[in-house]
Amino acid sequence: MKSDIRVCSAWRDAHDRPVYTLSASCPECGADAENSAPAPFDPNDPHGEYRRSLKRRNR
Ligand SMILES: [Zn+2]
Repeated sequence: MKSDIRVCSAWRDAHDRPVYTLSASCPECGADAENSAPAPFDPNDPHGEYRRSLKRRNR
């Protein structure tokens, strides 16, 4: 199932950190909210574990 969590599309300009929301627009600045899945900040990143282990190995 796809995540319903969205992230403010303008957070880089409007906020210090990603602003997550369940609605179609940012509750803080009103910009469009986009699906957070492609964002590098997705806590459910399916490749995160692999990437972290790779980084450890190269150290
Ligand atoms: Zn915003």
